Amino acid sequence: MVALSPILKQATPVIAARGEGALLWDEDDRRYLDFTAGIGVTSTGHSHPRIVAAAQEQIAKIIHAQYTTVMHRPLLDLTERLGEVLPQGLDRVFFANSGSEAVEAALRLARQATGRPNVVVFHGGFHGRTVAAASLTTSGTKFRSGFAPLMAGVTVTPFPDPSHYGWSQEETTEFALRQLDYTLQTLTSPEDTAAFLVEPVLGEGGYVPATTEFLAGLRERAERHGILLILDEVQTGWGRTGRFWAHEHFDATADILITAKGIASGFPLSAIAASEELMSKAWPGSQGGTYGANAVACAAALATLEVIRDEHLVENADQRGKQLRAALEEVAGQHDAIAGVRGLGLMLGTEFRDADGKPDGAAATRVQQAAAENGLLLLTCGAWGQVVRMIPALVVTEEQVDEAAQVWSQTV
Ligand code: PLP
Repeated sequence: MVALSPILKQATPVIAARGEGALLWDEDDRRYLDFTAGIGVTSTGHSHPRIVAAAQEQIAKIIHAQYTTVMHRPLLDLTERLGEVLPQGLDRVFFANSGSEAVEAALRLARQATGRPNVVVFHGGFHGRTVAAASLTTSGTKFRSGFAPLMAGVTVTPFPDPSHYGWSQEETTEFALRQLDYTLQTLTSPEDTAAFLVEPVLGEGGYVPATTEFLAGLRERAERHGILLILDEVQTGWGRTGRFWAHEHFDATADILITAKGIASGFPLSAIAASEELMSKAWPGSQGGTYGANAVACAAALATLEVIRDEHLVENADQRGKQLRAALEEVAGQHDAIAGVRGLGLMLGTEFRDADGKPDGAAATRVQQAAAENGLLLLTCGAWGQVVRMIPALVVTEEQVDEAAQVWSQTV
């Protein structure tokens, strides 16, 4: 008998049978509030009728046409329509299938464009599981240990995470920038550094937002030294944080922007965006793969853009995020085991600590499992798994947020 690999560690015993919006039903027809959204992928909700219709229509026309041989209409239309949401100046895009592949594409482009080998990344960053992406990832040893040799040329320096250092946001930001300068002085000289790679909000690393000053500090050093600033918005893009891009919260700008997850409502698709000048430094054959920019995925992405616009999902993420945050903070105030609530928009985390103040992954897992038994699906994150995260579809309603908050307060 064939069985699934034991490495597949399922957080809940649920077998999903169908879904609608932020709700999901299992094979026994038990209803769940799905505050995981397939790890932040199904932002328009499960099986949104307009996404389903767009995909069905496209499937009947053409499923796959390889973009180095022939183009297809959804790819061309999506490329054009991305102009409505991409930051000014990032007007050349390239598509892949997953976040990790897009991270690799950005890395290759940065090296091609600068001719420099090294990349600076930040503690707690998660950029994927391919060997190159894992080399850039520092949000937990499980993503790296045992895979040596990882890619050379990666230097890690602090991310401004006040909860980790126990300092104020200002102090932590100043510390992180000083450490970056020290790193550029002692470990990787600016002339050898192709890029800074950073998430505007740490995802796997524990739902920690960057600060405006930190990203401005990166931009200033990037300009000074001819280093590229790559923003990984795989988890934070497409309205998740209450702005279309999370970096808008911080007035930051990217030289290369990486996106995936929410882009196509569950179909595998990712993209990088950069200026024409930068993108023209890549040469044909150096990027891409057989399945990049699948026609059905591109059609779903086009429909996703329309749903986000027509249903005001970015605004909903902001409002429902505020509602959820207030509820989580109220619960946090009643429990010593909760160290704090953090995140942005509908990307919110509650951190658990033990009596000694140490990150408590076991407590977070207990709460996650108990919540599932009570009909609320959640995820954990953080290097110790100490943060319970809530990342529902952006279509989540006021009543559903209230219901989730009630389950949460009864479960914690
Ligand atoms: N970058 C970030 C910020 C992510 O959150 C993830 C996945 O969670 C990735 C990259 C990797 O994406 P994928 O799992 O699609 O390869």
